[in-house]
Amino acid sequence: MQIFQPRDVVPKIPRLLFSKNFDFEFELLPYRASGISRRKAANFFLAGLNQYLFPARPLGYPVVAQVEPANICNLRCPLCLTASLNKSRPPALLAYDTFARFIEDCGDWLLHLIFWNWGEPFLNPDLFRMIALARSRGIIVHTSTNGNVVLDEASAEALVDSGLSSLVFGIDGATQKTYEKYREGGRLDTVLANIEKVARIRRRKKASFPVINMRFVVMKHNESEIPLARELAAKLGVDYFSLKTVDMHPKMGDELDRAYAPDTKDYRRYAYEQNTYLRKAAPFKCMRPWKRITMDAAGYVIPCEYDYLNRHAFGNIQDTGALAAWKSDRGGAFRKAFHLGHNNFYLCRDCTYKNSVVDDCVVEKQIIAKNKSEWD
Ligand code: SF4
Repeated sequence: MQIFQPRDVVPKIPRLLFSKNFDFEFELLPYRASGISRRKAANFFLAGLNQYLFPARPLGYPVVAQVEPANICNLRCPLCLTASLNKSRPPALLAYDTFARFIEDCGDWLLHLIFWNWGEPFLNPDLFRMIALARSRGIIVHTSTNGNVVLDEASAEALVDSGLSSLVFGIDGATQKTYEKYREGGRLDTVLANIEKVARIRRRKKASFPVINMRFVVMKHNESEIPLARELAAKLGVDYFSLKTVDMHPKMGDELDRAYAPDTKDYRRYAYEQNTYLRKAAPFKCMRPWKRITMDAAGYVIPCEYDYLNRHAFGNIQDTGALAAWKSDRGGAFRKAFHLGHNNFYLCRDCTYKNSVVDDCVVEKQIIAKNKSEWD
């Protein structure tokens, strides 16, 4: 959960200073940020001090961002907290101008952008244009899709041309029957056709990006299909196949865990009291409000993605700009009241990272067809 671990970063300093590259992992996959200016590098170290000092107003500027392209979705996955399901926020698509302002504010400092939150990113018609803008500032961009969107040849070309660094396709089953148990309203054949299309166009263009990651969220009803899904990944020519633990909101008690937690212990996010689905307490230390700037589709800078009710927004980018919201008094008051996640805010009390026994919510990656020129 730290911004960086000194033991990982220190050996990379010479390369960062002389080659201006920085290699890092996100969700177990390797990435390289290139062309890092001295200013950006200096900020990276300054921002790293936040993980020791925890000031109300963070030092430096954010190096990691999470931005929500859309808070609406075309599917009805039972555990998802999209606005369209819980009616907590007005449905919104991130406006291109709002995003452009965000990049103008933060682009000099960011190393990578996680371009998803709640909702389906590909429903935003300006998504690829926004990705290209972020890439033009040297920011590594990851996005994710349920793959149930219309992706014609022209859109798939625009996607590859955007320079997107990595793309997750979420499939949680290898047969339609299993897949639709969770991805309600989804069609597995549509997702598979879209994966195949992006892989084919990327090959045709001799492009190395996006790195394609077929992602399987492991649940009780689908764990038996993991071997079949691996075979599908190999056939489709993706780069990685990865397994993720299921995100279960603790508010509903152990019923959710009973229904969704897989039987295979290695794929569980939590350990349970014997013969129950009551989560065992585990050490927890959250640094999100310091380490990542998060903006929702309506332009609110929020403490983290789980503020899905938008109750603790630090400010709106339209009013103040992103960095001013990040360093605002409201943000400062939040951080002061925040005890590394051990607090009584509704979002942290019910945080799905609490009591997690895995370092990363992605627990396994398999290299299927490593793109030879990736990051060269
Ligand atoms: S809900 Fe609270 S504890 Fe969980 S990630 Fe967000 S800020 Fe951290």
